[in-house]
Amino acid sequence: MNIYHMSYTEKFAGERMAMLSFRGCNFHCIGCIRERTEYDIYAEGRRYIDWNFENILKELKALNPHRVYLGGYEPTLDPDLITIIKDIAKLDPHIHIVLMTNGSRIDERYAMELKEAGVNEVIVSVKAFDRDKHLYYTKRSNEPVLNAIKNLAAIEDAYFRLQVETILLPGINEPADIEELAIFISEINPAISLFIEPWIPTPGVEFEEPKKRDLIDAVSRAMKHLYVVSYHPLYSEIKKIRETPVKAKFIEILPKQEQPFS
Ligand code: SF4
Repeated sequence: MNIYHMSYTEKFAGERMAMLSFRGCNFHCIGCIRERTEYDIYAEGRRYIDWNFENILKELKALNPHRVYLGGYEPTLDPDLITIIKDIAKLDPHIHIVLMTNGSRIDERYAMELKEAGVNEVIVSVKAFDRDKHLYYTKRSNEPVLNAIKNLAAIEDAYFRLQVETILLPGINEPADIEELAIFISEINPAISLFIEPWIPTPGVEFEEPKKRDLIDAVSRAMKHLYVVSYHPLYSEIKKIRETPVKAKFIEILPKQEQPFS
């Protein structure tokens, strides 16, 4: 099992929500968010448990979440992922299980395995639509990622949804690249939703935080081709929002054996 961290909130816009983070990735993104921290950048509390899947399941059962996210680095590298999904799905048929992935390992067969195991939504992250810039940024081709979108779209239904996510990153994935991605997606199915995530500045990494005007430009361009386009505020905006009274409290859970914080 590659799960190394869990975070949850009992109240996020009215929902109970949990995130399980998996270690290990086959990409080497220059601006990897995990370089910033491996933990939850929004967590405000922390506790420790004996780290095994049985105890993680117990935590999930006690929380009774509406939604569980499987993310972190790259969950599909975990050979136990399908079993993990089945066990979570068995807790409650109403849990909405969301897999967040770079998409590089989702061929037709694996897409079907995910669906049959009980995943309700797959979010495929496209780091860059341009082949060369993707190769530069991740050290991997984006061809399997774009194929994953096709494979997942082919079996999408109301219980197994697909969302594409992309980062806005100056010099790597600009508004014009995002429009090209939107056109690619629209040719598969214009009803597939696209989420645009502005890159989060990371100390020591060459890129700057995107400008708000570029974020709006990217959204407007994508909206010309797709029915549903949404976006995340800039990290600097979130920091300002978080200075206002707290609406959701996140707690993180880690292995007792590896206490990095005292
Ligand atoms: S795919 Fe995600 S976890 Fe992997 S290197 Fe890129 S940003 Fe980091």
